[in-house]
Amino acid sequence: MNIILIGTQGCGKGTQAIKLSEYFNIPTITMGEVLREEIEKGTALGKLAASYMNKGMLVPDDLVGSIIRKKLQRDEYGLGVILDGYPRNIVQAEEFDTYFQPDYAILLEISDEEAIKRVTGRRVCLKCGENFHTLYRPSKEPGRCDRCGTKLKVREDSTPEVVKTRLEVYHLQTEPLIGFYEKKGVFIRIDGERSISEVYEDIISKIKEHELRHQKTKQEVEIMAQGGARLAKVLARLRGIAKPGAETAELERRAQEWLKELGAEPAFLNYRAGRSGSPYPCSVCVSLNQEIVHGLSVPSRVLKSGDLVSLDFGAKYKGLYTDMAITFYLGRAPKEVKRLIKITYDSLRRAIRVVRPGNNLSDIGKTIESCVAKHKLGIVRDLVGHGVGYAVHEPPRVPNYDDPTLAKIPLEPGMCLAIEPMLTLGDFKIKTLEDGWTVVTKDGSLSAHAEVTVAVTEKGHRILTPFID
Ligand code: AMP
Repeated sequence: MNIILIGTQGCGKGTQAIKLSEYFNIPTITMGEVLREEIEKGTALGKLAASYMNKGMLVPDDLVGSIIRKKLQRDEYGLGVILDGYPRNIVQAEEFDTYFQPDYAILLEISDEEAIKRVTGRRVCLKCGENFHTLYRPSKEPGRCDRCGTKLKVREDSTPEVVKTRLEVYHLQTEPLIGFYEKKGVFIRIDGERSISEVYEDIISKIKEHELRHQKTKQEVEIMAQGGARLAKVLARLRGIAKPGAETAELERRAQEWLKELGAEPAFLNYRAGRSGSPYPCSVCVSLNQEIVHGLSVPSRVLKSGDLVSLDFGAKYKGLYTDMAITFYLGRAPKEVKRLIKITYDSLRRAIRVVRPGNNLSDIGKTIESCVAKHKLGIVRDLVGHGVGYAVHEPPRVPNYDDPTLAKIPLEPGMCLAIEPMLTLGDFKIKTLEDGWTVVTKDGSLSAHAEVTVAVTEKGHRILTPFID
């Protein structure tokens, strides 16, 4: 579970970050704290940061950007993180978006007057670190620390002038994040001018509500099944012509033609996401050998005997999307490769079986991980399954490993999920090629990918993209 908290100084981000961190059992990164630690240590970075912070300005983007990138590489953040204070402007958000997907961006909204009241009353003891507030947590003797008797101070960034600048910076630079995350379908607005527990309860209930928002009606599921049947039919035909000597561009041409004949449209063509600034140029992703996903179906690429081929394909039908993928070998597969393909499909089949009301989202990844564990295969972690329907990619994330934080999200009728294990014969690490799209294994090992779109029903599940392997 990845959560970004947005809001002015004094909106309660820090307090709610602690509570959410306990609830989901994941750590928090508070950017302001990270920078203040650097200042305390007297590092060069701290000195530079202080020169901006004390004036209420934002620290330069590349500086905070590289801090956060380095931190998030650590294992402790592998299962998710609560981010308090990052990103704080669109430049940061866009750079962040190339490698980090939040499940929720939560705005704690308070008025400027309330922010000023909350922040300018803060007092801190520089000796023992104890915090007070003239209105909400006054010290027994005004101006003196209850613990050590030292004279209390106003933090340099909490004086009325600096707070005013910070509010201006917030409205100008941080507020545009609302639109940015709204477009991604992960934005939640919370009235922050209530008690801590009321705000907290509201966040939890909105997160749950948000999951429900993506639930499809029975009619919508029916349409997705019709679209999925068309998608599967075209994919089966593509599989039939994906022979040694075939150009990937021929697969692309046919994919478009056959989908059109069935009244559907390609879902991936011109899709915008990922590291590439340019839209995805194909309808069908053809990923060969060490390529995991998003390989391009362009003229220069010709299939040959001995290729391990993954076809990932999506369709839009009557306004709703479905998504599926298959992997096969051209020729007689070596034992190891056969095993890789078999376990990829086995783990997918088993994961589908746990899709039913009463189970939760973490059961899917847990099942895939336990199925793969004894086979010494890599499970790609940086790419995950997802909700699907109103868009190709919508919440929630459906990782292929056990993420206990997702145990809080029940599987409910109407949820439509694209489950897609991506396994490798080597390590789980990945990299993106120069083309900005093709994702390959970092160690060059072979990789397989299988995917279906499945709907949770009252009694269990319904596969919307009939499975071919
Ligand atoms: P905070 O404690 O979150 O209010 O942050 C204190 C100060 O740290 C801010 O006023 C900025 O000067 C700096 N800061 C924190 N987060 C960021 C960020 N994401 N980008 C730039 N500066 C930041």
